[in-house]
Amino acid sequence: MNALAATSRNFRQASRLLGLDSKLEKSLLIPFREIKVECTIPKDDGSLVSFVGFRVQHDNARGPMKGGIRYHPEVDLDEVNALAQLMTWKTAVAALPYGGAKGGIGCSPGDLSNSELERLTRVFTQKIHDLIGTHTDIPAPDMGTNAQTMAWILDEYSKFHGHSPAVVTGKPIELGGSLGRDAATGRGVVFATESLLAEHGKSISGSTFIIQGFGNVGSWAASIFHERGGKVIAIGDVTGSIKNDNGIDVPALIKHKNEGGALKDFNGAEAMDSKDLLVHECDVLLPCALGGVLNRENAPHVKAKFIIEAANHPTDPEADEILAKKGVVVLPDIYANSGGVIVSYFEWVQNIQGFMWDEEKVNMELKKYMNSSFNNIKQMCKSHDCNLRMGAFTLGVNRVARATLLRGWEA
Ligand code: GLU
Repeated sequence: MNALAATSRNFRQASRLLGLDSKLEKSLLIPFREIKVECTIPKDDGSLVSFVGFRVQHDNARGPMKGGIRYHPEVDLDEVNALAQLMTWKTAVAALPYGGAKGGIGCSPGDLSNSELERLTRVFTQKIHDLIGTHTDIPAPDMGTNAQTMAWILDEYSKFHGHSPAVVTGKPIELGGSLGRDAATGRGVVFATESLLAEHGKSISGSTFIIQGFGNVGSWAASIFHERGGKVIAIGDVTGSIKNDNGIDVPALIKHKNEGGALKDFNGAEAMDSKDLLVHECDVLLPCALGGVLNRENAPHVKAKFIIEAANHPTDPEADEILAKKGVVVLPDIYANSGGVIVSYFEWVQNIQGFMWDEEKVNMELKKYMNSSFNNIKQMCKSHDCNLRMGAFTLGVNRVARATLLRGWEA
Protein backbone atom coordinates (compact mmCIF):
# COMPACT_ATOMS: atom_id res chain seq x y z
CA MET A 1 0.00 0.00 0.00
CA ASN A 2 1.45 3.39 -0.88
CA ALA A 3 2.26 5.89 1.88
CA LEU A 4 -0.70 8.18 1.18
CA ALA A 5 -3.24 5.34 1.14
CA ALA A 6 -1.79 3.95 4.38
CA THR A 7 -1.77 7.32 6.18
CA SER A 8 -5.29 8.19 5.02
CA ARG A 9 -6.51 4.77 6.13
CA ASN A 10 -5.15 5.35 9.64
CA PHE A 11 -6.76 8.81 9.65
CA ARG A 12 -10.18 7.42 8.60
CA GLN A 13 -10.00 4.73 11.27
CA ALA A 14 -9.31 7.41 13.91
CA SER A 15 -12.05 9.63 12.52
CA ARG A 16 -14.53 6.76 12.89
CA LEU A 17 -13.42 6.09 16.48
CA LEU A 18 -13.97 9.79 17.21
CA GLY A 19 -17.34 9.78 15.42
CA LEU A 20 -16.39 12.73 13.18
CA ASP A 21 -18.91 14.04 10.68
CA SER A 22 -18.11 12.83 7.13
CA LYS A 23 -17.89 16.41 5.76
CA LEU A 24 -15.40 17.38 8.45
CA GLU A 25 -13.48 14.16 7.74
CA LYS A 26 -13.23 15.09 4.06
CA SER A 27 -12.11 18.64 4.80
CA LEU A 28 -9.40 17.41 7.21
CA LEU A 29 -8.05 14.98 4.62
CA ILE A 30 -7.76 17.32 1.62
CA PRO A 31 -4.48 19.31 1.71
CA PHE A 32 -4.66 23.09 2.10
CA ARG A 33 -2.27 23.64 -0.85
CA GLU A 34 -0.01 21.53 -3.11
CA ILE A 35 2.98 23.22 -4.76
CA LYS A 36 4.97 21.59 -7.57
CA VAL A 37 7.89 23.47 -9.13
CA GLU A 38 10.52 22.92 -11.78
CA CYS A 39 14.09 23.35 -10.52
CA THR A 40 16.69 23.55 -13.30
CA ILE A 41 20.35 24.16 -12.40
CA PRO A 42 23.65 24.15 -14.25
CA LYS A 43 25.82 21.25 -13.12
CA ASP A 44 29.51 21.84 -12.31
CA ASP A 45 30.44 20.76 -15.87
CA GLY A 46 28.08 23.40 -17.35
CA SER A 47 25.35 20.99 -18.51
CA LEU A 48 21.76 21.60 -17.38
CA VAL A 49 19.78 19.26 -15.17
CA SER A 50 16.10 19.55 -14.11
CA PHE A 51 14.42 18.31 -10.95
CA VAL A 52 10.88 18.55 -9.60
CA GLY A 53 10.37 20.11 -6.16
CA PHE A 54 7.27 19.87 -3.97
CA ARG A 55 5.79 21.55 -0.93
CA VAL A 56 2.49 20.24 0.37
CA GLN A 57 0.82 22.40 3.03
CA HIS A 58 -1.68 20.06 4.62
CA ASP A 59 -3.45 21.95 7.40
CA ASN A 60 -3.14 25.22 9.35
CA ALA A 61 -6.11 25.13 11.73
CA ARG A 62 -3.81 24.97 14.78
CA GLY A 63 -1.07 27.34 13.58
CA PRO A 64 1.60 27.88 10.91
CA MET A 65 2.36 24.77 8.90
CA LYS A 66 5.56 22.92 9.82
CA GLY A 67 7.60 20.10 8.35
CA GLY A 68 10.86 19.03 6.79
CA ILE A 69 12.25 19.07 3.27
CA ARG A 70 13.44 15.73 1.91
CA TYR A 71 15.99 15.15 -0.87
CA HIS A 72 15.57 11.57 -2.07
CA PRO A 73 14.98 9.78 -5.40
CA GLU A 74 11.63 8.36 -4.16
CA VAL A 75 10.15 11.81 -3.45
CA ASP A 76 6.92 12.36 -5.41
CA LEU A 77 3.63 14.20 -4.81
CA ASP A 78 1.93 11.20 -3.15
CA GLU A 79 4.81 10.61 -0.74
CA VAL A 80 5.05 14.31 0.18
CA ASN A 81 1.27 14.45 0.67
CA ALA A 82 1.40 11.50 3.08
CA LEU A 83 4.32 13.02 5.01
CA ALA A 84 2.58 16.44 5.17
CA GLN A 85 -0.56 14.82 6.58
CA LEU A 86 1.53 12.94 9.16
CA MET A 87 3.05 16.28 10.23
CA THR A 88 -0.44 17.70 10.91
CA TRP A 89 -1.23 14.83 13.32
CA LYS A 90 2.34 14.83 14.73
CA THR A 91 2.37 18.52 15.74
CA ALA A 92 -1.12 18.06 17.24
CA VAL A 93 -0.06 14.97 19.24
CA ALA A 94 2.85 17.00 20.67
CA ALA A 95 0.47 19.93 21.42
CA LEU A 96 2.64 22.34 19.39
CA PRO A 97 0.86 25.45 18.00
CA TYR A 98 1.47 24.28 14.42
CA GLY A 99 -0.20 22.65 11.45
CA GLY A 100 1.54 20.27 9.04
CA ALA A 101 3.50 20.51 5.78
CA LYS A 102 6.28 18.66 3.98
CA GLY A 103 8.50 19.35 1.01
CA GLY A 104 11.01 17.55 -1.10
CA ILE A 105 12.95 17.28 -4.30
CA GLY A 106 13.19 14.03 -6.28
CA CYS A 107 16.99 13.76 -6.50
CA SER A 108 19.94 11.70 -5.24
CA PRO A 109 21.82 14.16 -3.02
CA GLY A 110 24.84 11.82 -2.87
CA ASP A 111 25.32 12.21 -6.64
CA LEU A 112 25.39 16.03 -6.48
CA SER A 113 28.38 18.16 -5.46
CA ASN A 114 28.07 20.63 -2.63
CA SER A 115 27.80 23.57 -5.03
CA GLU A 116 25.16 21.74 -7.11
CA LEU A 117 23.15 21.09 -3.93
CA GLU A 118 23.47 24.75 -3.00
CA ARG A 119 22.23 25.88 -6.44
CA LEU A 120 19.33 23.41 -6.30
CA THR A 121 18.30 24.57 -2.80
CA ARG A 122 18.46 28.24 -3.83
CA VAL A 123 16.39 27.67 -7.00
CA PHE A 124 13.79 25.71 -4.99
CA THR A 125 13.65 28.53 -2.41
CA GLN A 126 13.18 31.13 -5.16
CA LYS A 127 10.17 29.17 -6.39
CA ILE A 128 8.46 28.80 -3.00
CA HIS A 129 9.65 31.87 -1.02
CA ASP A 130 6.32 33.70 -1.22
CA LEU A 131 4.44 30.68 0.14
CA ILE A 132 6.59 29.98 3.22
CA GLY A 133 7.24 32.30 6.19
CA THR A 134 7.70 32.57 9.98
CA HIS A 135 3.92 32.64 10.53
CA THR A 136 2.74 30.62 7.51
CA ASP A 137 4.98 27.61 6.80
CA ILE A 138 8.34 26.80 8.41
CA PRO A 139 10.58 24.18 6.72
CA ALA A 140 13.20 22.04 8.53
CA PRO A 141 15.65 19.26 7.64
CA ASP A 142 14.52 15.73 6.76
CA MET A 143 16.15 12.82 4.94
CA GLY A 144 18.97 14.03 2.64
CA THR A 145 18.98 17.60 4.00
CA ASN A 146 20.71 19.13 7.02
CA ALA A 147 21.63 22.37 8.82
CA GLN A 148 23.64 23.57 5.79
CA THR A 149 20.57 23.16 3.54
CA MET A 150 18.57 25.28 6.01
CA ALA A 151 21.31 27.96 5.97
CA TRP A 152 20.99 28.23 2.15
CA ILE A 153 17.18 28.46 2.38
CA LEU A 154 17.47 31.16 5.07
CA ASP A 155 19.97 33.16 3.02
CA GLU A 156 17.92 32.95 -0.19
CA TYR A 157 14.64 33.71 1.60
CA SER A 158 16.23 36.74 3.34
CA LYS A 159 17.11 38.26 -0.07
CA PHE A 160 13.36 38.61 -0.74
CA HIS A 161 12.01 39.25 2.77
CA GLY A 162 14.89 40.60 4.90
CA HIS A 163 16.56 38.76 7.79
CA SER A 164 14.06 36.17 9.05
CA PRO A 165 15.81 33.55 11.21
CA ALA A 166 12.53 31.86 12.28
CA VAL A 167 11.52 30.96 8.69
CA VAL A 168 13.41 27.66 8.96
CA THR A 169 14.45 25.47 11.89
CA GLY A 170 17.30 22.99 12.20
CA LYS A 171 19.70 25.80 11.23
CA PRO A 172 23.39 25.91 12.18
CA ILE A 173 23.85 27.33 15.73
CA GLU A 174 25.77 30.30 14.23
CA LEU A 175 22.62 31.35 12.32
CA GLY A 176 20.16 31.00 15.20
CA GLY A 177 19.84 27.21 15.42
CA SER A 178 18.97 25.67 18.78
CA LEU A 179 21.36 23.72 20.95
CA GLY A 180 20.17 20.11 21.04
CA ARG A 181 18.25 20.28 17.70
CA ASP A 182 20.67 17.96 15.88
CA ALA A 183 20.21 15.19 18.47
CA ALA A 184 16.53 15.96 19.16
CA THR A 185 14.76 13.31 17.06
CA GLY A 186 17.09 10.56 18.35
CA ARG A 187 16.84 11.82 21.94
CA GLY A 188 13.03 11.97 21.67
CA VAL A 189 13.03 8.38 20.36
CA VAL A 190 14.95 7.33 23.49
CA PHE A 191 12.50 9.15 25.84
CA ALA A 192 9.59 7.50 24.01
CA THR A 193 11.21 4.05 24.29
CA GLU A 194 11.92 4.62 27.97
CA SER A 195 8.23 5.37 28.69
CA LEU A 196 7.01 2.34 26.74
CA LEU A 197 9.51 -0.05 28.34
CA ALA A 198 8.73 1.28 31.84
CA GLU A 199 5.06 0.49 31.26
CA HIS A 200 6.05 -3.13 30.62
CA GLY A 201 8.33 -3.28 33.68
CA LYS A 202 11.51 -2.99 31.56
CA SER A 203 14.27 -0.43 31.16
CA ILE A 204 16.82 0.64 28.55
CA SER A 205 19.71 -0.90 30.44
CA GLY A 206 19.24 -4.64 30.14
CA SER A 207 17.36 -4.44 26.82
CA THR A 208 18.70 -5.24 23.35
CA PHE A 209 18.20 -2.91 20.37
CA ILE A 210 18.39 -3.20 16.58
CA ILE A 211 18.70 0.00 14.56
CA GLN A 212 17.86 0.20 10.85
CA GLY A 213 19.28 3.42 9.39
CA PHE A 214 22.38 5.11 10.73
CA GLY A 215 21.83 8.71 9.65
CA ASN A 216 20.97 11.57 12.00
CA VAL A 217 18.12 9.80 13.84
CA GLY A 218 19.59 6.27 13.99
CA SER A 219 23.07 7.31 15.07
CA TRP A 220 21.86 9.66 17.83
CA ALA A 221 19.36 7.10 19.13
CA ALA A 222 21.99 4.33 19.08
CA SER A 223 24.51 6.48 20.88
CA ILE A 224 22.05 7.54 23.63
CA PHE A 225 20.81 3.94 24.12
CA HIS A 226 24.46 2.87 24.46
CA GLU A 227 25.18 5.71 26.92
CA ARG A 228 22.18 4.60 29.02
CA GLY A 229 23.42 0.99 29.26
CA GLY A 230 21.30 -0.46 26.44
CA LYS A 231 22.88 -3.13 24.22
CA VAL A 232 22.76 -2.22 20.51
CA ILE A 233 23.25 -5.66 18.93
CA ALA A 234 22.77 -4.89 15.22
CA ILE A 235 22.81 -1.84 12.95
CA GLY A 236 22.18 -1.47 9.23
CA ASP A 237 22.27 1.27 6.61
CA VAL A 238 22.23 1.44 2.79
CA THR A 239 25.79 0.12 2.62
CA GLY A 240 25.08 -3.07 4.66
CA SER A 241 24.41 -4.45 8.14
CA ILE A 242 26.50 -5.59 11.12
CA LYS A 243 25.88 -7.43 14.39
CA ASN A 244 27.57 -8.20 17.68
CA ASP A 245 25.57 -10.17 20.27
CA ASN A 246 27.68 -8.65 23.06
CA GLY A 247 26.73 -5.13 21.98
CA ILE A 248 28.28 -2.81 19.39
CA ASP A 249 30.62 -0.10 20.70
CA VAL A 250 28.49 2.73 19.25
CA PRO A 251 30.92 5.66 19.91
CA ALA A 252 33.70 3.67 18.16
CA LEU A 253 31.37 2.97 15.21
CA ILE A 254 30.44 6.66 14.91
CA LYS A 255 34.15 7.57 14.94
CA HIS A 256 34.76 4.95 12.20
CA LYS A 257 31.88 6.41 10.14
CA ASN A 258 33.06 10.01 10.63
CA GLU A 259 36.48 8.97 9.33
CA GLY A 260 34.77 7.81 6.12
CA GLY A 261 34.56 4.07 6.94
CA ALA A 262 31.65 1.94 5.70
CA LEU A 263 29.52 0.14 8.32
CA LYS A 264 30.51 -3.31 7.03
CA ASP A 265 34.25 -2.56 7.48
CA PHE A 266 33.88 -1.83 11.21
CA ASN A 267 36.16 -4.08 13.27
CA GLY A 268 33.97 -4.52 16.34
CA ALA A 269 31.17 -6.49 14.65
CA GLU A 270 30.47 -9.12 12.00
CA ALA A 271 28.62 -8.55 8.73
CA MET A 272 25.02 -9.75 8.46
CA ASP A 273 22.53 -9.95 5.60
CA SER A 274 20.44 -6.74 5.57
CA LYS A 275 17.33 -8.86 4.89
CA ASP A 276 17.81 -10.49 8.33
CA LEU A 277 18.21 -7.22 10.24
CA LEU A 278 14.49 -6.56 10.80
CA VAL A 279 13.73 -10.18 11.76
CA HIS A 280 16.72 -10.78 14.05
CA GLU A 281 16.03 -11.63 17.73
CA CYS A 282 15.98 -8.51 19.99
CA ASP A 283 13.80 -6.67 22.51
CA VAL A 284 13.39 -3.39 20.62
CA LEU A 285 13.49 -2.86 16.85
CA LEU A 286 13.90 0.69 15.54
CA PRO A 287 13.33 1.44 11.84
CA CYS A 288 15.06 4.83 11.49
CA ALA A 289 15.14 5.22 7.71
CA LEU A 290 12.60 4.86 4.91
CA GLY A 291 8.86 4.20 4.96
CA GLY A 292 7.17 0.86 4.28
CA VAL A 293 10.07 -1.35 5.43
CA LEU A 294 7.82 -3.59 7.55
CA ASN A 295 5.36 -5.32 5.22
CA ARG A 296 3.31 -8.51 4.94
CA GLU A 297 6.40 -10.47 3.78
CA ASN A 298 8.69 -9.78 6.74
CA ALA A 299 6.18 -8.95 9.51
CA PRO A 300 5.34 -12.63 10.28
CA HIS A 301 9.05 -13.23 10.99
CA VAL A 302 9.70 -10.24 13.29
CA LYS A 303 11.04 -11.41 16.66
CA ALA A 304 11.24 -8.06 18.45
CA LYS A 305 8.80 -7.44 21.32
CA PHE A 306 8.63 -3.69 20.70
CA ILE A 307 8.88 -1.63 17.51
CA ILE A 308 9.63 2.08 17.82
CA GLU A 309 8.83 3.96 14.61
CA ALA A 310 11.71 6.42 14.47
CA ALA A 311 11.15 6.73 10.69
CA ASN A 312 7.92 8.08 9.18
CA HIS A 313 5.37 5.36 8.21
CA PRO A 314 7.83 2.41 8.36
CA THR A 315 4.98 -0.08 9.01
CA ASP A 316 2.51 -0.96 6.27
CA PRO A 317 -1.11 -1.37 7.56
CA GLU A 318 -0.98 -5.07 6.59
CA ALA A 319 2.16 -5.50 8.70
CA ASP A 320 0.44 -3.60 11.53
CA GLU A 321 -2.31 -6.23 11.64
CA ILE A 322 0.14 -9.14 11.54
CA LEU A 323 2.30 -7.60 14.29
CA ALA A 324 -0.74 -6.93 16.50
CA LYS A 325 -1.80 -10.61 16.20
CA LYS A 326 1.73 -11.64 17.21
CA GLY A 327 1.54 -9.38 20.29
CA VAL A 328 4.31 -7.03 19.09
CA VAL A 329 3.81 -3.54 20.55
CA VAL A 330 4.26 -0.77 17.94
CA LEU A 331 4.95 2.80 19.09
CA PRO A 332 3.75 5.01 16.19
CA ASP A 333 5.82 7.51 14.21
CA ILE A 334 3.63 10.55 14.91
CA TYR A 335 4.66 10.22 18.55
CA ALA A 336 7.97 8.28 18.49
CA ASN A 337 9.86 10.64 16.16
CA SER A 338 8.24 13.90 17.28
CA GLY A 339 11.37 15.02 19.20
CA GLY A 340 12.71 16.72 16.05
CA VAL A 341 9.71 18.96 15.48
CA ILE A 342 9.36 19.62 19.22
CA VAL A 343 12.88 21.08 19.37
CA SER A 344 12.19 22.85 16.05
CA TYR A 345 9.37 24.59 17.93
CA PHE A 346 11.82 25.52 20.73
CA GLU A 347 14.19 26.93 18.07
CA TRP A 348 11.37 29.02 16.52
CA VAL A 349 10.36 30.31 19.97
CA GLN A 350 13.98 31.26 20.77
CA ASN A 351 14.31 33.07 17.40
CA ILE A 352 11.10 35.03 17.94
CA GLN A 353 12.10 35.93 21.52
CA GLY A 354 15.70 36.67 20.52
CA PHE A 355 16.84 34.63 23.52
CA MET A 356 18.93 31.44 23.52
CA TRP A 357 18.27 28.47 25.83
CA ASP A 358 21.07 26.26 27.16
CA GLU A 359 21.14 22.61 26.08
CA GLU A 360 20.03 21.36 29.48
CA LYS A 361 16.82 23.39 29.24
CA VAL A 362 16.17 22.14 25.68
CA ASN A 363 16.58 18.50 26.71
CA MET A 364 14.53 18.93 29.88
CA GLU A 365 11.64 20.58 28.01
CA LEU A 366 11.84 17.91 25.30
CA LYS A 367 11.45 15.20 27.95
CA LYS A 368 8.43 17.02 29.44
CA TYR A 369 6.71 17.23 26.04
CA MET A 370 7.47 13.58 25.17
CA ASN A 371 6.21 12.31 28.55
CA SER A 372 3.07 14.38 28.43
CA SER A 373 2.22 13.17 24.88
CA PHE A 374 2.77 9.57 26.01
CA ASN A 375 0.32 10.00 28.89
CA ASN A 376 -2.24 11.69 26.63
CA ILE A 377 -1.96 8.86 24.09
CA LYS A 378 -2.46 6.26 26.83
CA GLN A 379 -5.63 8.09 27.93
CA MET A 380 -6.99 7.97 24.35
CA CYS A 381 -6.15 4.23 24.19
CA LYS A 382 -8.24 3.76 27.32
CA SER A 383 -11.21 5.86 26.26
CA HIS A 384 -11.36 4.37 22.73
CA ASP A 385 -10.16 0.88 23.66
CA CYS A 386 -7.55 0.96 20.91
CA ASN A 387 -3.86 0.33 20.21
CA LEU A 388 -1.09 2.95 20.49
CA ARG A 389 -1.31 3.96 16.80
CA MET A 390 -5.00 4.73 17.10
CA GLY A 391 -4.39 6.33 20.51
CA ALA A 392 -1.94 8.76 18.86
CA PHE A 393 -4.11 9.31 15.76
CA THR A 394 -7.30 9.96 17.77
CA LEU A 395 -5.36 12.40 19.99
CA GLY A 396 -3.94 14.33 17.02
CA VAL A 397 -7.01 14.21 14.77
CA ASN A 398 -9.33 15.26 17.62
CA ARG A 399 -7.21 18.34 18.39
CA VAL A 400 -7.18 19.41 14.71
CA ALA A 401 -10.92 18.70 14.33
CA ARG A 402 -11.74 20.81 17.40
CA ALA A 403 -9.62 23.73 16.17
CA THR A 404 -11.26 23.50 12.72
CA LEU A 405 -14.78 23.50 14.18
CA LEU A 406 -13.98 26.43 16.48
CA ARG A 407 -12.78 28.49 13.52
CA GLY A 408 -15.94 27.69 11.54
CA TRP A 409 -16.52 27.90 7.78
CA GLU A 410 -18.63 31.01 7.34
CA ALA A 411 -17.36 33.21 4.50
N1 GLU B 1 11.58 16.26 9.36
C1 GLU B 1 11.24 16.08 10.73
C2 GLU B 1 9.95 15.28 10.88
O1 GLU B 1 9.58 14.53 10.02
C3 GLU B 1 11.25 17.39 11.51
C4 GLU B 1 10.26 18.41 11.02
C5 GLU B 1 10.45 19.79 11.66
O2 GLU B 1 11.28 19.94 12.53
O3 GLU B 1 9.70 20.68 11.26
O4 GLU B 1 9.29 15.33 11.88
